Amino acid sequence: MSQSSMILPPAMLGMLGGGQLGRFFVIAAHEMGYKVTVLDPDQNSPAGKIADVHICAKYDDAEALAQMAATCQAITTEFENVPATTLRTLAQSVPVRPSAEAVGIAQHRVSEKNFLKEAGLPVAPYAVIDAESDLPADDSEIYPAILKVARFGYDGKGQARVANLSEAKAAFAAFSQEECVLEKMLKLDYEVSVVLARDVNGHVATFPTAENSHLNGILDISIVPARGSDAVNHQAQKLAISVAEKLQYTGVLGVEFFVCDGELLVNEIAPRPHNSGHYTLDACITNQFEQQVRVMTGLPLGSSRQHSPAVMVNLLGDIWPNEALQTEPAWQLALGAPTLKMHLYGKAEARAGRKMGHFTVLGTNRDDAIKLAMQVRSELKIGE
Ligand code: ADP
Ligand code: MG
Repeated sequence: MSQSSMILPPAMLGMLGGGQLGRFFVIAAHEMGYKVTVLDPDQNSPAGKIADVHICAKYDDAEALAQMAATCQAITTEFENVPATTLRTLAQSVPVRPSAEAVGIAQHRVSEKNFLKEAGLPVAPYAVIDAESDLPADDSEIYPAILKVARFGYDGKGQARVANLSEAKAAFAAFSQEECVLEKMLKLDYEVSVVLARDVNGHVATFPTAENSHLNGILDISIVPARGSDAVNHQAQKLAISVAEKLQYTGVLGVEFFVCDGELLVNEIAPRPHNSGHYTLDACITNQFEQQVRVMTGLPLGSSRQHSPAVMVNLLGDIWPNEALQTEPAWQLALGAPTLKMHLYGKAEARAGRKMGHFTVLGTNRDDAIKLAMQVRSELKIGE
């Protein structure tokens, strides 16, 4: 790639969204010498607080978008629900990666599922529900199932488990008859994910396959590399690359999978760095946020090689004794462990289910990392 097509430091980069993913992006960009403008309507957003410029406005605010287009040399997103029109508007005057089209597919469960199915990728049996009359009858093999709202669902929100038509009707009504996907409830062996980066020339760097467990629909623990067979880990990488190529994707992409009877099914895709890729901050030569900077600026991808087995544990607001953070969890074991890397996101309030931070334990081997992570997890009373 020619030096001239690269956006070099100290260029100003634009980030849509000011959550923890945006914050890690700002840190990565700063380390490389870039400046960052964050757009987020929250005055106290974790990324806005450390950005060079925080534009505190809505994602469709014309003046804010004009300011970003005029001052940023490339723009990316950490928030998958940015209106696609925002991305399209910005793309008229500045490179936007990933594209509005790719983000548009990922932010709507119906277009996401249809895209995956049409691309020939394996997915769980599903039905698109626009109206109550679309709900399958009781004799359908889809039950028991999960009804998921098509838009704005995350961390298990906007989902209901339904055993039959009447429960499905009640759940559909409770979701205000919004467009939904009804998905067969599967018996999962376990779950994995792959985070990758694909650059403007189509080069791909995949991070190792992560093994994920969830608590109440929210990611709890990622173990990397995953403990399943090499064949499954390898197949997950292949499928993730195939998703990125079929999307003509440019950016960092997270692909979640179910493993059922030893077979992989694509669950969902995220057009941004992924929570299950947070271990890359401490365990890989290049982390997922640096890859995001590299893709948007047209730099070559960094090595995604993992140098230490890693276990990441999410820290949700539930473990704070007090919402206003007047008392802290029992950090002694966590902060005293020499191979544990703590990351707190600087949020001012600890609400139940809110992602407040995470830690990653690095091990000389995976079992040691798991052991220490579980000790700290239990000291912090996670999941109790
Ligand atoms: P979110 O956007 O909230 O991450 P997901 O569709 O990934 O939504 O669902 C969250 C979690 O719920 C999954 O990681 C998985 O543990 C569980 N889950 C979702 N769909 C199914 C399913 N069809 N069968 C079994 N478990 C599921
Ligand atoms: Mg998910």
